[in-house]
Amino acid sequence: MTVHAIQTGSVRIKTAQVQGQGHGLRRRLGVFADPHWTEWLPTYAWVIDHPEGVIVVDTGQGAHLLDSGKSLHPYMRWEVSFRIERDEEIGPRLGALGIGPRDVKRVVLTHLHADHDGGLAYFPRSEILVSRGEVRTARGWMGRLRGYLPQRWPSWFDPVPLDLAAEPFGPFAASRRLTEAGDVVAVATPGHTAHHVSVAVVDDGLTYLLAGDASYNERLMLAGRIDGVSADDEVAGGTLSAIRQLARDRPTVYLPTHDPESAVRLTQHTLVKAIGVPPRNI
Ligand SMILES: [Zn+2]
Repeated sequence: MTVHAIQTGSVRIKTAQVQGQGHGLRRRLGVFADPHWTEWLPTYAWVIDHPEGVIVVDTGQGAHLLDSGKSLHPYMRWEVSFRIERDEEIGPRLGALGIGPRDVKRVVLTHLHADHDGGLAYFPRSEILVSRGEVRTARGWMGRLRGYLPQRWPSWFDPVPLDLAAEPFGPFAASRRLTEAGDVVAVATPGHTAHHVSVAVVDDGLTYLLAGDASYNERLMLAGRIDGVSADDEVAGGTLSAIRQLARDRPTVYLPTHDPESAVRLTQHTLVKAIGVPPRNI
């Protein structure tokens, strides 16, 4: 099995989104009040070239996001900006790896934010798995009001509900195997969105956690600092603490979507280290 990182353009957001300031509603409104932008951050999608078939985790950005500045949604209009060329979308990127979209057996989405579902159009023949609650939150007018882009979903988009069972995977309370071999497992990592999932890949004694937006980078996960958009401080903090526990229990490579270090960490199998007593979220 081989895991590849695919960069689908990059994104800039407010620093208060990456690292939430304060608590609760004040933390969430802080994203809109913050004048400071991050550097351009990569948006990764992941390809698991597995003996049972290719699995893609997240589909990254699409060039349609370049129109986000015209959006009526205040977040899309003012608080985020994207860079992507058409040949950086996941379809051409997979082609460069010698993988045609038809070779992709399954696509798993950590959540349905626009920089994760932007390449869906390339996968009309794949089984697409999304957690049931995430689809419910993202679809229709209510989804649009929440900042999702369901109007950009392909007309054929009808994902298979990814229902996690009450089967723990390490410190994660709910999980579901995505391969017969049990070496690719979806785990519940609620916080950034209420039904956010991550995908754990176990290979050669290491666990690679494709963590979506569970945190924007490894440092914030280690520090237990939640982002600016999570709805519930405790739930999001609990997920970060479960990830730290995973890394204490087994050698773990932590791979969030927007961490500039993720691709290098993957190729060099760099483990999460230096985990002491979990700090409180301040
Ligand atoms: Zn997100």
